[in-house]
Amino acid sequence: MVDVLIIGAGPAGSMSAALLASRGYDVLVLEKQKFPRFSIGESLLANSLEMLEDAGMLEPVMAQGFQFKNGAAFVHNERYSEFNFAEKFSEGSPFTFQVPRAQFDKVLADEAARRGARVEYEVEITGIDVSGERPVVTSKRGDEIKTHRPRFVLDASGFGRTLPRLLDLDRPSDFPPRAAVFVHVQDNTISGEFDRQKIRVGVHPTNQEVWSWFIPFSNGQASLGIVATPEHHAKFKGSLEERLWQLVADEPKLGHLLRNAKAVRPVAELKGYASKVKSMFGPGFALLGNAAEFLDPVFSSGVTVAMKSATLACDVLHRQLKGERVDWQTEFADPLAYGVETFRNFVIGWYDGSLQDVIFFENQDPAIRRMICSVLAGYVWDTKNPYTGPQSGRRLRALAQMCRAA
Ligand code: FAD
Repeated sequence: MVDVLIIGAGPAGSMSAALLASRGYDVLVLEKQKFPRFSIGESLLANSLEMLEDAGMLEPVMAQGFQFKNGAAFVHNERYSEFNFAEKFSEGSPFTFQVPRAQFDKVLADEAARRGARVEYEVEITGIDVSGERPVVTSKRGDEIKTHRPRFVLDASGFGRTLPRLLDLDRPSDFPPRAAVFVHVQDNTISGEFDRQKIRVGVHPTNQEVWSWFIPFSNGQASLGIVATPEHHAKFKGSLEERLWQLVADEPKLGHLLRNAKAVRPVAELKGYASKVKSMFGPGFALLGNAAEFLDPVFSSGVTVAMKSATLACDVLHRQLKGERVDWQTEFADPLAYGVETFRNFVIGWYDGSLQDVIFFENQDPAIRRMICSVLAGYVWDTKNPYTGPQSGRRLRALAQMCRAA
């Protein structure tokens, strides 16, 4: 009898599967695609490395030889500002990795299986009924339809948003629609022109709402993408690949850095990815990672939030399955929201320009810079940092005003 059925084998699904299987539960992960499969989201935050360690999943990740990452570099015309995770305010890991997700996600899924979870690929969840004592879940593999009656369902289906769709839980996001055009390249950058141990975030010369990411991997390849409003994207014509290179050239410093780059896979586009739900849990189910909410790619927060949600949910679920009384709102949704609110306020500040004024301010108080660095490293649940939680937006705006006035 299945204790927990997990939808999707991305980071949230595999981490939950490993945590629950290690505690002796019968765990079934059903994944729609065949692994390894491409996924966007290659820049990890330092905090996610610590969560992997706590889940006992760090060793197989370390063994992959992924690109070491020690911070983030921001570029706007002649302005350059880099944050080194070693200088952050919060305690914790000073480094992380930049990972091709096909490989990273497979390592985590294999580790979950090694711990005893059953992971089945090319099986899609197509239905759920939560009106009875146990959830009744329908899956489909080719023509084969199956019914499952687990004790609990964790939806870790990412942008698939399976339960929000099936149970009508979707709510409009707070953010206006944006689109990302992206690719993997053989970057052929000249040694010394850029520190490969950092994600490079470039801001468009004249439009602060348009930005690029460049995430080098250890094999000479890199993830490259441009995020902009649909109106900005509409200015560029031609095939997706032609548009990508026009967008890259439109940020001259990025164009120069990538002057010898060659695409190694087809260019892709994602639109309107920001999402939100009415509730993150219900009778017999909880939503993890992107299945619950996605804010914006700018601070590489997705995998970190996915792992944090898995960690919190598995603790609550473990106690529930043992027969304890639990409160999913105060023990899962509220603690998760503290960090998500931090990222939300930073995303708002990024697009209204206030955070960019803070990031590029040259005479920043070193103590404040360390606090901002902590958030960029993913330590958004550190309640000791004044720039985390619900107050972070107000404090960030005040800080931006000080930077502008100086
Ligand atoms: P996913 O990784 O999406 O995994 C979900 C899995 O569920 C998939 O394998 C899917 O096949 C499976 N699935 C879906 N539906 C079903 C179904 N019905 N039945 C069975 N299986 C199903 N995050 C970062 O941390 N760093 C970044 O640099 C970053 N960059 C990004 C750039 C862009 C443009 C975007 C849009 C996002 C970015 N993200 C980034 C976010 C990141 O991609 C996600 O937050 C992260 O992958 C979420 O993990 P997850 O486990 O919730 O879901």
